Amino acid sequence: MRRVSVFGATGSIGQNTLDLIARAPDDYDVVALTGGRNIAQLARDAVALRADLAVTAHVDLLADLQAALAGSGVEAAAGQGALLDAAARPADWVMSAIVGAAGLAPGLVALEQGATLALANKESLVTAGPLLMETARVHGATVLPVDSEHSAIFQALVGEDMAAVERVIITASGGAFRDWPIEKLAQATLEQASSHPNWDMGQRITIDSASMFNKAMEVIETKEFFGVQPEQIEVLVHPESMIHALVGFNDGALMAHVGAPDMRHAIGYALHWPERRPLPVARLDLAQIGQLTFRAPDPDRYPALRLAQEVMQTGGMMGAIFNAAKERALDGFIAGQIGFLDMAQVVEDVMTQLSSDNGLIRAGFTLDNVASADHLARIRADQVMADKT
Ligand code: NDP
Ligand code: MG
Repeated sequence: MRRVSVFGATGSIGQNTLDLIARAPDDYDVVALTGGRNIAQLARDAVALRADLAVTAHVDLLADLQAALAGSGVEAAAGQGALLDAAARPADWVMSAIVGAAGLAPGLVALEQGATLALANKESLVTAGPLLMETARVHGATVLPVDSEHSAIFQALVGEDMAAVERVIITASGGAFRDWPIEKLAQATLEQASSHPNWDMGQRITIDSASMFNKAMEVIETKEFFGVQPEQIEVLVHPESMIHALVGFNDGALMAHVGAPDMRHAIGYALHWPERRPLPVARLDLAQIGQLTFRAPDPDRYPALRLAQEVMQTGGMMGAIFNAAKERALDGFIAGQIGFLDMAQVVEDVMTQLSSDNGLIRAGFTLDNVASADHLARIRADQVMADKT
């Protein structure tokens, strides 16, 4: 039996992960499940999967979790410290699916135990890629990509030599507003931004898909995970979301990964790696689909892609600054404080303000330095947003 833990178990990725685990209960010994505010779901899953431990990130919800787990034999805990303690419990495979920068620290602790980390939390690589990859290396731990594009690249690279890779192409559906006239984008509402044409995901990543911040993060994620140069990474708009990524080799060949837009593809690959096992996902009927289409992303429509280039050129703590400013701008958009197009403006303003602070940008990759840069960027983002309103 493999010991598994799922961080962010109550979310979209977490629930898809539990779905796969629940289909083969004899294969897995569930150590810890963690969630945030959705106590009912967390408790239900922890009991059904006989987890040793259930943790909510929020201390004020401990009593609720204890009540929901009473008599079940599942231990309850709450708070940041409890999340890290859960990550320190021995496990063979750990899913990192908390949303936001909060996912970084538990992932690092899991790697320090030598666990295989299935990484959905892209913020970990955007904010602290070198720290995450180095922690894995030092502790002999493995990081497996769960973001669909990165899983696709990873699969296209099996048996290949990185020296033969010329370029990596990640596809983007274009999100909710890909066919909107650009002049209308400023008026886009929260409800409109929260529905994705192809993927069923958490609200935050869905809005990030509409603004292309999600793809901007994935470009940085690609650089950090695969160690390719920024100029080797291309973004291609592909509205059908069937091809998730392509790798271009020095002989001109392109290896593409094609599959239904269902995250259980990438989660299952990471769960069973290095094997492949049957997965409960749709089989594509390409004759029925008929055609797949592609176009170049319009840089005027998607300023986030340009900001990703700046993050990669600057390096250091700029990834943490970019991510934190983006998280606050997204909070501001969700709260109705700023408009859809203001999000990129807020992030750019914060990056510009902090880019000349060399002490900050060039601080080494430690969790403390990343947290400080994150903290400062959030304060600046709040100031920029207050000035706008
Ligand atoms: P969701 O919003 O659906 O779920 C987020 C999870 O994190 C929930 O379990 C939530 O708890 C928990 N959580 C929220 N805030 C905190 C916090 N501060 N501390 C600890 N736990 C917290 O997100 P997704 O599943 O969509 O995304 C998870 C991660 O995976 C993100 O990094 C995202 O970018 C990435 N990803 C997601 C994809 C998808 O298809 N959804 C695809 C590729 C990557 P609760 O809900 O109980 O409050
Ligand atoms: Mg993705």
